[in-house]
Amino acid sequence: MSGEIEKFDVLIAGGSFVGLSLAVALAHSGRGALRIAVVDRTPLESARAATNDGRASALSAASTHLFQSLGVWDRVSAQAEPITDIDITDTRLGDIARPSLLHFDGALAEGVPAAHMLENHVLRGALIEQAEVTDGLAFLAPETVEDFTLHAGGVTARLGSGDAILASLLVAADGRKSALRKKAGIKTIGWSYPQAGIVATLGIGKPHNGCAVQHFLPQGPFAILPLQGNRVSLVWTEPRTRALEIVGLDDTEFLSEARKRMGGRYGDLTIAGPRAAFPLDMHLARAFVAEKVALVGDAAHGVHPLAGQGLNIGLRDVAALAEVVIEGARLGLDLGSAPVLERYERWRRFDSAFSGLSMDALNRLFTNDNAPLRAARSLGLGVVDRVPVFKRFFVREAAGLTGTLPRLLKGQEI
Ligand SMILES: Cc1cc2nc3c(=O)[nH]c(=O)nc-3n(C[C@H](O)[C@H](O)[C@H](O)COP(=O)(O)OP(=O)(O)OC[C@H]3O[C@@H](n4cnc5c(N)ncnc54)[C@H](O)[C@@H]3O)c2cc1C
Repeated sequence: MSGEIEKFDVLIAGGSFVGLSLAVALAHSGRGALRIAVVDRTPLESARAATNDGRASALSAASTHLFQSLGVWDRVSAQAEPITDIDITDTRLGDIARPSLLHFDGALAEGVPAAHMLENHVLRGALIEQAEVTDGLAFLAPETVEDFTLHAGGVTARLGSGDAILASLLVAADGRKSALRKKAGIKTIGWSYPQAGIVATLGIGKPHNGCAVQHFLPQGPFAILPLQGNRVSLVWTEPRTRALEIVGLDDTEFLSEARKRMGGRYGDLTIAGPRAAFPLDMHLARAFVAEKVALVGDAAHGVHPLAGQGLNIGLRDVAALAEVVIEGARLGLDLGSAPVLERYERWRRFDSAFSGLSMDALNRLFTNDNAPLRAARSLGLGVVDRVPVFKRFFVREAAGLTGTLPRLLKGQEI
């Protein structure tokens, strides 16, 4: 088989959450007119396994609309936990009472949550299943895109197997360390945080009642996020060395450290999944497009996970790129041409930069035990807590329903 060249309209390098969502969105919205290939280096069985990724994601209402349009939501909705309330606090660990600084009702309207929690391996499994039944979509895994060359006819990508793919547009969805971004000559701006995010799933003895808690501690935010079946997902930020020490503790010691931060609200705690520590950074690609190449997801941007927005921002890229590509195809434009790609970049780069910088500012504001600053932020949050219009604004932000939304995020077809 080695040495074959196959032709597609769009080749997507990276078939994780963002790459697979884009592949399904393009094939679905192209209604058989486009041929899409998506390539991922991870073998399918490992990609679906819970042991591969113990994280869970807060999916905004806008992201849920996208998955509803693509037929993915029906596959996962029974396992998604609606976030019904959000509590934000910055009390110290030794404080006897832990009053919340800010409390949000997590609903956009009666019975419509602003976000759901879903385990990453469940989402990835559902995206793989949907890709397998979507016409016009070829999913090659395990396979890699090693390199690419540009020419008048499009872009030719060399694969790890020795085969090649010729496409009009190459999309890099290959994650934060994107090798294709570098090969396209796109640099990034950003910085690493001295923190790492510990992620773990715990069983709890008392119900969480759908409440997500964000506890801002001086070392970094500690989030307790509700999962189905009396479980919670922790996203626990600590200085890097300390994070590695905590992840390496035995189960009893790990639970004891978690209990110190969670208090008695959840009853007995048990280990209910793998734990890992992720280095955290903020990065933004200086351009989201190059000749015949577009970046999406973490290849284009990375944000601090304190508000659970990284994947949601990537899914905004998916919906925007799908819309400009499909509309370009209907107009008979070359899918890798400047008019198509520049429209995508204008739509997404400023929004992504704004999100990244907002998360960074929040992290700096709250990871600080300075007394006047604590007083000022308590005052500011107290004001937000008392003014319903501010609260409605923040809930719509969390739901991803602000700004100029692509149609798929509004639950509409392209
Ligand atoms: C601790 C933590 C908690 C988070 N919580 C949330 C949350 O609650 N909500 C939220 O919205 N976001 C959250 N995020 C962010 C979210 O996880 C990421 O934004 C998301 O995983 C990015 O997806 P992606 O598809 O762009 O990249 P990735 O998931 O990194 O996928 C890249 C894929 O590309 C493949 N690949 C790489 N190179 C090649 C190649 N050359 N050829 C073929 N394949 C290749 C890899 O195998 C991989 O599958 C969190 C992040 C962290 C670290």
